[in-house]
Amino acid sequence: MRLSRYFLPVLKETPAEASIVSHRYMLRAGMIRQASAGIYTWLPLGFRVLRKIERIIHQEQQRAGHVPMLMPTLQSSDLWRESGRYDAYGPEMLRMQDRQGRELLYTPTAEELITDVFRAHVKSYRDLPLTLYQIQWKFRDEIRPRFGVMRGREFYMKDGYNFDLTKEDALHAYNRHMVSYLRIYERLGLRAIPMRADSGPIGGDDTHEFLVLAETGESEVFYDSAVTGLSLGAQRIDYDDRGAIAAICREWTTPYARTDETHDPELFARIPEERRRVSRGIEVGQIFYFGTKYSEPMGATVTDEAGNQVPVHMGSHGIGVSRLVGAIIEASHDERGIVWPEGVTPFHAGIVNLRQGDPACDAACAEIHAALCAAGLEPLYDDREERAGAKFATMDLIGLPWRITVGPRGLKNGVVELTCRRTGESEEMRAEDAVARVREIYAPHHEAGLVEPMAGRSFHTWL
Ligand code: ATP
Ligand code: MG
Repeated sequence: MRLSRYFLPVLKETPAEASIVSHRYMLRAGMIRQASAGIYTWLPLGFRVLRKIERIIHQEQQRAGHVPMLMPTLQSSDLWRESGRYDAYGPEMLRMQDRQGRELLYTPTAEELITDVFRAHVKSYRDLPLTLYQIQWKFRDEIRPRFGVMRGREFYMKDGYNFDLTKEDALHAYNRHMVSYLRIYERLGLRAIPMRADSGPIGGDDTHEFLVLAETGESEVFYDSAVTGLSLGAQRIDYDDRGAIAAICREWTTPYARTDETHDPELFARIPEERRRVSRGIEVGQIFYFGTKYSEPMGATVTDEAGNQVPVHMGSHGIGVSRLVGAIIEASHDERGIVWPEGVTPFHAGIVNLRQGDPACDAACAEIHAALCAAGLEPLYDDREERAGAKFATMDLIGLPWRITVGPRGLKNGVVELTCRRTGESEEMRAEDAVARVREIYAPHHEAGLVEPMAGRSFHTWL
């Protein structure tokens, strides 16, 4: 992509309304624009990051055997009356009427609608287990929308729902979600800690929240520092292997980690003092097991092996996709701007032409651009007639992890400069070597995105 043909409305001034760094940088980097309180337009750069996160979520969810679909944002109130949540949900639910006077609402979550789909089509235990999910806009009329996309009123969320015959099966679904979520966060370049949580209006006993540590987080968190050393890495995970999945969950949930809602000072005090941590965190996801809370009142039953009608065991599982964009920035930035992790960067590398209009520089940049594209990478080529300082400042602000700088002096010696955004370190090398290096850097990320079919099950990959 050539910057001269792109739409990147960066701001020079720091917007006064933004109180935290991710909000400031998202506005300054031309990623979002507020449309009204807590509602945002996703400008091209922000939209790219949102899509990258979404793609990783789709890949990892399908690896776990979960099936993507899409439900509407507007729902009839009828189903919500059936479950008893229409009155219980409170003022966060945006309610409206159509021209016939029928009550509609903008979905804050979708347990009722998915349960209705399920009961209409699934009748037998033979069709279980089943986990359906979507990535769709939600609306919650938050009393105080703030921090940009971190606490919006309209926000983008992955919500998944498992249907199982027994509690044991449903707990396996719960564990699958935990592992799949941990993999998602790792691929996003985030360290998110599963913490025992409170279930709120979704209901149920078993629930974990995933929190990214950040000073600007809204939750107070208490944890054993041992948990921050854990990682899944590139290990192959068999989501059908209950024992292995449960073992990973045990490993991650054994060290103490809780939010203020469930914090137990006595248990906390048993952790060796040097490992006790109190800090703040951003909630980027939550998983729930709630048994038959919705299936019973809504009649979502199947026939079991003995021919009895039994309500299915369910859970629901959410990831805040749009909030993650902000959370990643909170966790990865410096005083010059964003530092994107390679897994989600909007462009893989920036190309800066130090002397636009110089035939040698222009040709070298065009060649590097073409070579990166041919390698399946997405470069952003700053081909504007601008000072070098302004080009560098833009690249630093928008946070591309790698920058290739092309100037007349280097070209005379046959070299360009490859710079790492995170460390600021630069290295001179031939243009083709710079391209090869960038390819190498992204190779593991491409591999991580290749979705292998699961044993004994086939499914289509999405995106
Ligand atoms: P919070 O406690 O932050 O209000 P929640 O617990 O009500 O969130 P869930 O119902 O668990 O939210 O929704 C799943 C995920 O959706 C959350 O983990 C969070 O990442 C995201 N999310 C929830 N509310 C918002 C919001 N107002 N803006 C952006 N993302 C949100
Ligand atoms: Mg939550």
